[in-house]
Amino acid sequence: MIKVAINGYGTIGKRVADAVAAQPDMEIIGVSKTSPSAEAFVAQSRGYPLYIADIGRKPDFEKAGIRVAGSVEEMLTKADVVVDATPGGVGVKNKPLYEKLGVRAIYQGGEKHPLTGFSFNSSCNYAEAIGRQFVRVVSCNTTGLCRIIHVIDTAYGVKKVRATMIRRASDPGEIKRGPVDAIVLDPVTVPSHHGPDVQSVLPKIAITTAALIVPTTFMHMHVVMIETEKEADREGVLALIEGHSRLGLVRPATGITSTAQLKEYMQDLGRSRADLWENGIFEDSVSVVDGHEVCLYQAIHQEADVVVENVDAIRAMIGEVKDAETSIAITNKALGFTAI
Ligand code: NAD
Repeated sequence: MIKVAINGYGTIGKRVADAVAAQPDMEIIGVSKTSPSAEAFVAQSRGYPLYIADIGRKPDFEKAGIRVAGSVEEMLTKADVVVDATPGGVGVKNKPLYEKLGVRAIYQGGEKHPLTGFSFNSSCNYAEAIGRQFVRVVSCNTTGLCRIIHVIDTAYGVKKVRATMIRRASDPGEIKRGPVDAIVLDPVTVPSHHGPDVQSVLPKIAITTAALIVPTTFMHMHVVMIETEKEADREGVLALIEGHSRLGLVRPATGITSTAQLKEYMQDLGRSRADLWENGIFEDSVSVVDGHEVCLYQAIHQEADVVVENVDAIRAMIGEVKDAETSIAITNKALGFTAI
C-alpha cells in the first residue's frame, strides 16, 4: 500500500483524501489542519489521523474535542507521498521540509511551474512523472483544457487554440470572496495565465486564453475553439470525447443548459459531494466550422476535476503502474466513476 499524507485538508485536500482512501493500492496515514474547524471534525469522523502545522496549538484542538496525532513533520516521516493542498503560495514554503525528509510531494495549481519543473495531467504525460520527487497537478481550468486539447491534438493535430474561461467567483463555502454583482476581467490583459499553464503540460500547443469572473460558485464554463491541422468532423470529435474516460457529454435529452442544473444532476446521481470529475462538454455545442475549427462549451467543476489527477500522480511517482490508462482505470473504478 502506498502511504499518503494530505498536507492542507481543505476544499481539494479533503476530496483527494477520500479518493485516495477508496483506492485498492493506497492508504491515508494522516491529514493536516492549522486550526480546529468543521473539516477537522470531518477528518476525525472519517478516521483520518489529524496532524497540525503548529504543534503549540494542540490544546485548542483538544479543547474542541479533536484528537491530535502529532505535528506535520511527524506525519511526513510516515508517508511515501504527500499531497500538498495548502493555499496557493504556502506550498512553496513547505518544499525545504519535504527535501529534508526526502518525501515525494505533489503540489496543486496554486503553485508555479518552476517549483517542480514538471506539471502533470494523467492523459497527457503520466509516464514522465514516473520516479519524480516533485510534481505539480495543474489547476482545474488547465486540467480541463489539457484533457480536450490533447485528445483533439492526438487525432487531428492542433494548429491553434482560443479559449475563454468564465470563472466561478468562489467555492460554495468560501464566504470571504466575491464579486457579488460584477463581471471582473481576470486579468484585463490577454492572455490569461491559463494558456501558458497549458503549455507547461503541452509545450507545443499554440494557445491564447482570456478569463472573466462572474458571481457564481458552482463551476467554470469554457468557450473553446480549436483549429486543427487535419480535417475534422463533428461525429469524429464526439467519438473521441465518448472514448475518453474523463471527458463527459451533457446530453440534450437531459434538458441541462447550465452549471446549476449540471451540479444538481451530479447530486442526484449520488456522486460524492456532487462532484463532476470529468469535463462536462455540452453535446449540442460540439461543432466543426469549415472542417478545421472544433468549437464547444465545457463546464469544469473547480473543486473536483483535479482530484482524480492527484490520485494518478501519486501512482506515477511511485512508479509501479507504468501507463496512464491502467492508473486511470483503477482510480475511476475505485470511485465508481464513469463519465457522463
Ligand atoms: P483551501 O483554503 O480550501 O484549503 C487549504 C487548507 O490548507 C485549509 O484547510 C487550511 O487550513 C490548510 N493550511 C493552510 N496553511 C497551512 C499550512 N501551513 N500547513 C498545513 N495546512 C495549511 O484551499 P483549496 O481551494 O483546497 O486550494 C488548495 C490548492 O489547490 C491551491 O493551490 C489551489 O490553487 C489549488 N486548487 C484549488 C481549486 C479550487 O477551486 N478550490 C481547484 C484546483 C486547484
